[in-house]
Amino acid sequence: MKRVSIPEFHSALKAQGVAKVHLAFKCPLCGTVQSASDFIAAFAGNTFDDVEKYLGFSCIGRWTGAGAPRKKPDGRPCNWTLGGFLKLHQLEVVDDEGRAHPRFEVATPEEAQQHAALIETAG
Ligand SMILES: [Zn+2]
Repeated sequence: MKRVSIPEFHSALKAQGVAKVHLAFKCPLCGTVQSASDFIAAFAGNTFDDVEKYLGFSCIGRWTGAGAPRKKPDGRPCNWTLGGFLKLHQLEVVDDEGRAHPRFEVATPEEAQQHAALIETAG
């Protein structure tokens, strides 16, 4: 389990060097890289603020009819959410009161930029 403070979490996101809508997370179960733009494209909401609550918490697959996580990630989304009983996350963001909030892992700058470029190309 990796634990980071809120400022550390924000600086990891900032390091991705992409627009807010392309800030990317990785589902701990299927490994899919996903950003707010994916959730907007899947009609989970119209703006970043609408979908922020899902980002890094529920897999995009929940909005695209994906199945349960496979034993071995196959590159496709799944229906995982950190709100369930099973705790399989690998990252916790610790707030000022010391409370830990599970989150999907922050994608690397390379992953985030590659993902943003794919979406921009697809229009
Ligand atoms: Zn997933």
